[in-house]
Amino acid sequence: MKNQIKNRNSEIPPVQMNRDTKFKFRCHKKINCFTDCCRDINIMLTPYDIIIMKEKLELSSEEFLAIYTNPQLLEKADLPVVILKHLDDDRKSCPFVKDEEGCIIYEERPSTCRYYPLGVGSLSYASNYNESDDFFFTVKESHCKGFEQEKEWTVSEWREDQDVELRDEINAGWTDLIVRKKSVPMSIKLTEKSKQMFFLACYNIDKFRKFIFESTFLKRYDVDEKTVNNMKDNDIQLLQFGFKWMKSTLFEDGENIKLK
Ligand code: SF4
Ligand code: SF4
Repeated sequence: MKNQIKNRNSEIPPVQMNRDTKFKFRCHKKINCFTDCCRDINIMLTPYDIIIMKEKLELSSEEFLAIYTNPQLLEKADLPVVILKHLDDDRKSCPFVKDEEGCIIYEERPSTCRYYPLGVGSLSYASNYNESDDFFFTVKESHCKGFEQEKEWTVSEWREDQDVELRDEINAGWTDLIVRKKSVPMSIKLTEKSKQMFFLACYNIDKFRKFIFESTFLKRYDVDEKTVNNMKDNDIQLLQFGFKWMKSTLFEDGENIKLK
């Protein structure tokens, strides 16, 4: 699992794709289904999506989460995730879609929107970004005419065109946490506090920064000076630290961040 897009009429053909698998697809403004895919959908946001979207909208992570998202519990992983809230209109539109223009945050659109019509999953968790564990599949929605176009891509070419490599690398620690938690028997439950900490570290980066720098955290945990300096003003570094801390906390992974 990495991120998901779901629609009432979506079909996932039972074909597992790798990076060299080819598929035909083209999306453009003149196609008669233009923006149909931005209505009545569930888009799970990744931690990096939230950082770039809140920056684009000049909001704090707390404000962005309150205005644009709903929390949800991810089945099997029993971990909180964040879903983009749709508008209360007839078509349940994404708040960022305009009929003529399309996506008004196109450069900062979420990973799921970039991947579409591909979905991505992971076969196992890994301590480092490890692309060999990923697999892909197409999500065919009945209204989407993009599959009728002649342009052919490999999965790798599509990923490069949509600029998802960097995003996947940054989100890898979060993906690992979810995949790893899914592999733990359901009978082993996390406490509510652990789930809240996961939410804070992964999604509410501005509040997480306050938690790290304005609480007793740095007095209680053994964090080297370089890491502290790196994450002071850098959301991505702070996010990576949060993933490591969650790994230590949820799975007692000894290589990571320890109490003093
Ligand atoms: S071709 Fe598919 S992805 Fe493109 S606008 Fe139409 S429905 Fe959306
Ligand atoms: S974020 Fe942009 S691309 Fe994604 S559903 Fe909304 S309008 Fe469409």
